[in-house]
Amino acid sequence: MLGADVVFGRRRSLLCKLGDRSGFVTLRFFHFSAAQQRALERGVRLRCYGEARPGPAGLELVHPEYRVLDPAAAVALEATLTPIYPAGEGVTQPRLRQLVGQALALSERQHPDLLHDWLPAGLLPNLPSLGDAVRYLHTPPADAPLELLARGEHPAQRRLAFEELIAHHLSLRQLRARVQRRRAPPLQAPAAFTERFLAALPFTLTRAQQRVCREITADLARSHPMLRLLQGDVGSGKTAVAAYALVQALGSGHQAALMAPTEILAEQHRATLSAWLEPLGVRIAWLTGKLKGRARAAQLAALADGEAGLAIGTHALFQDDVHYRDLALTLIDEQHRFGVHQRLALRDKGRGGVTPHQLIMTATPIPRSLAMIGYADLDHSVIDELPPGRTPVNTLTVADQRRPEVIARIHHACRAGQQAYWVCTLIEESEQLQAQAAETTAAELRLALPDLRIGLIHGRLKPAEKNAVVDAFKAGELDLLVATTVIEVGVDVPAASLMVIENPERLGLAQLHQLRGRVGRGGIASHCVLLYSAPLSRQARERLGILRETNDGFRIAERDLELRGPGEVLGTRQTGELQLRIADPLRDAGLLPAVKRAAEALATDQPRAVAPLIRRWLGRAARYGEV
Ligand code: ADP
Ligand code: MG
Repeated sequence: MLGADVVFGRRRSLLCKLGDRSGFVTLRFFHFSAAQQRALERGVRLRCYGEARPGPAGLELVHPEYRVLDPAAAVALEATLTPIYPAGEGVTQPRLRQLVGQALALSERQHPDLLHDWLPAGLLPNLPSLGDAVRYLHTPPADAPLELLARGEHPAQRRLAFEELIAHHLSLRQLRARVQRRRAPPLQAPAAFTERFLAALPFTLTRAQQRVCREITADLARSHPMLRLLQGDVGSGKTAVAAYALVQALGSGHQAALMAPTEILAEQHRATLSAWLEPLGVRIAWLTGKLKGRARAAQLAALADGEAGLAIGTHALFQDDVHYRDLALTLIDEQHRFGVHQRLALRDKGRGGVTPHQLIMTATPIPRSLAMIGYADLDHSVIDELPPGRTPVNTLTVADQRRPEVIARIHHACRAGQQAYWVCTLIEESEQLQAQAAETTAAELRLALPDLRIGLIHGRLKPAEKNAVVDAFKAGELDLLVATTVIEVGVDVPAASLMVIENPERLGLAQLHQLRGRVGRGGIASHCVLLYSAPLSRQARERLGILRETNDGFRIAERDLELRGPGEVLGTRQTGELQLRIADPLRDAGLLPAVKRAAEALATDQPRAVAPLIRRWLGRAARYGEV
């Protein structure tokens, strides 16, 4: 130390000049105590750590960490690198380091169980033991491969991620095992009943639909509850499969319920399923949040005395005062909009210790890696084939300067007898703002295209009004439907062949894919125009490019996961519950097969390891206590 001075510039600060054989730096302290000032006097030996920046007189370290060294002893450099922790409010870096040091010492002397290795060495795919991994990461050797560590791909990090993923997998397995110990009524409709249903369907099931129906009926015939996720791209025909499952429950004299996330979708299901099932003598009850008073009471009574076999509606189906005489199957459509807790709550509407079978449908394909982590409590069925006669949607991106051209194109197409959607997007969740935006656009388009019949649909309309608009569009009484994203799910108008999505850069890929799935349902070549506001960021351009490249929802979901991470893809509700600390489903995807094998081996060969592993990584996370 060559000298220390308090200087009074714009701010009072303590400047110390420090030098060694290689040169000089200035240490600058804005906050310092008298004791600190005394300690930093000329002649002391210091070791400092901090970020060096150019200052008025050469390199400068502002508020470095420092340690005063014994001037006589030759002090060796520490043998390890110093880890940097995610220190936060109230806990400083050095304090955390000290606490970690204490914890490590404790784990070595008094509490070896803290780092007890529950994974036998044979299960580790060339990874270090837990103790070695933890010690390595807290005290990395001076020659540690920094880049590998920064990427989170060092074997020590992978060791922790591996164990964390195993813990998650085990906890979901446990959840599933607990549900499956419950009893469920075996469901199998008389063959003639199923035949009548199939004969009345306006189409024959695709091979993929048939295979999935077999998977489901095998589950339903058992006396413990089915827990199955049905995945299928937009338009792959999940509703018909759902109906097939419902027929099994209804045909064997039990009740079933179908829940949809929005009223429009619930209403579409009611229309479709009453056409398919009422001829078989099924009575359908209808429950949504907007249904009140006498009308609601009548529906509740029909469900309670079993007069209605099937209930269709929104989450209102599962409120506390809704009682079923004999609910044996619950079906949830578009599950990405329901949290895991909701999916657990639905299991409790059975009667007399019986748990209903459960089928969850999703049109947002879940990338395999995420499914293995987030949905290991469910069996999976995939409809991997679209019904015949579909033409892939041709997707183009167009800058909004060319809006007049797009409007002209719509005019031309509609005059030629086609039908089109114009979708307005807003980031705001507010239905009111969304509705306003759609109203403004509708007014503008009506002005520009006075000879077209233009309808408007948004979330602020009453359910009956929404249905009237959708029905008019379906019946060909409207040429153009201006809409908010309320049409994302459930609107099925095969004749519509053109869609314009305004400001697509505001939406996630999965949602865009879902919206685009409203066209391309009939035999006509369909187009989707992504009308973006220029200029696009590089990332946005890349994302929209993916939609142009492919119509395959599974590919899109994988790419979405790469670009946006699991939080955005699964939705905050689900990832909030995932709470991964070390593991990253994308980065660590390569570990997943080994995770699955290891979890299964542990559960059978070392059941004693299961609870401590879950406790170590998940604590008492609410989700896992609940069944
Ligand atoms: P999603 O999987 O998106 O829920 P839907 O069940 O709404 O798809 O089906 C999309 C459209 O495909 C509907 O118009 C439906 O009638 C039709 N469809 C379903 N299955 C078949 C099939 N096997 N053959 C022909 N059309 C089908
Ligand atoms: Mg559907």
